[in-house]
Amino acid sequence: MNKLILASCFLFLTCAFSSNLHYSTIKKETGSGSTLLVIGGIHGDEPGGYFAPMLLAKYYKIESGNLWIVPNLNFDSIVKNSRGINGDMNRKFAKIETKDKDFDIVSDVKKLILNPKVDLSLNLHDGQGFYRDRNIDKNFNSKAWGQATIIDQQQIPNAKYGNLAEIAKKVSKETNVDLAEDVHEFNVKDTKTKTQDKAMQQSLTYFSITNNKPAFAIETSKNITDLSLKAFYQLKTIEEFMNIMNIKFTRSFELNQASIKALLEDDGILEIPTTKITLDLSTLKSSIRYFPMNKDKLVYSSNNPLVAVIKDKDDYKIMNGNILISTLKPDYNEFESSLSDINLQIDGKKSSAKIGTQVNVKNNFLVEPINGYRINVIGWSKPGVISEGGIKIEPKDLVKGYAIDKSETTYMVQFYKDKKFCGMLNIKFEDEKKMKK
Ligand SMILES: [Zn+2]
Repeated sequence: MNKLILASCFLFLTCAFSSNLHYSTIKKETGSGSTLLVIGGIHGDEPGGYFAPMLLAKYYKIESGNLWIVPNLNFDSIVKNSRGINGDMNRKFAKIETKDKDFDIVSDVKKLILNPKVDLSLNLHDGQGFYRDRNIDKNFNSKAWGQATIIDQQQIPNAKYGNLAEIAKKVSKETNVDLAEDVHEFNVKDTKTKTQDKAMQQSLTYFSITNNKPAFAIETSKNITDLSLKAFYQLKTIEEFMNIMNIKFTRSFELNQASIKALLEDDGILEIPTTKITLDLSTLKSSIRYFPMNKDKLVYSSNNPLVAVIKDKDDYKIMNGNILISTLKPDYNEFESSLSDINLQIDGKKSSAKIGTQVNVKNNFLVEPINGYRINVIGWSKPGVISEGGIKIEPKDLVKGYAIDKSETTYMVQFYKDKKFCGMLNIKFEDEKKMKK
């Protein structure tokens, strides 16, 4: 069975030629109970604020109550690792001009926050330093934002979960049970927005508060450089909010820094349905030549909501949040969909594979010739050979530079009818270096 396809239990379909990347909304609902809305990535250069909700989307199951997740609110800024390519989005919630490039995103997320089903919203950040209620030094002081649960005021009278200060205190206390270092302790920061903070009056949380809906900001510290530790603290606080709201959940991993580190190493898969191409992003090489693409449109999906394919001059960049996975050098072709199954000989045994899948090979492979189609093994060539079917190929026959993965063991086999691209197979040879371990 194909592991890549099995992994894609939920998919985010995106079109790379649309002018802006829109955020995704993942709803995990059981119907009854309270609803928590978690919003990540309002600031594109604060990865703790968007990799944590990605993990929430990918690995948490809700058993009662409801969890809505926006992991990538300011997606255009995330892929550029910029606080805000159109200015600070978190200063646009009091008023925004219709011509502002963030207008649609801000208007859409306001509707989401005000949805009658939503009981409480969280806005996730990485902030400067470590918040303390007194001034200790340049990193630990009352102006810092990091390692804090932020409230705009003590309470919202008559609102469900309106006791903001009490909830924030409880969340911080629970987060502090499991600190990697004592100085990472979480504290509650009340910005007293209505009377003391003009800037925060334009923020997402204050928009929510003034509409009588509880909202909190969670800030891990920019001074903590390990992403897995920031994601750990973010998830700890989010879980505590779920406990308070009686939202029952299960997750497929132990909540500790080591397991989060392992999960973050999985970049996910990328599927391009129009050309029937599936890529394992965790193993992908940093640059791939002769990548077949459709000129008119690129529609793709991933099981990781932070994956985006961005046009960059003549190339395409595959991003996982602010991390560049690979640069594709496109080979534009018209697509033709008449092929579905390919006959092969894998290590001397007859076999068949669906177009678009990966085939695992030990020593050699041979693609059976197909009448009317040209077979092109990228990385193999011999003068005078036009179609490369019927030829037994071993790793030593291939130029490693054309492999598509970091370990240089996976090669594209592409199929053409006249000049039209009909799809490809990825041939993966056993990784000898790995086998020796
Ligand atoms: Zn921020």
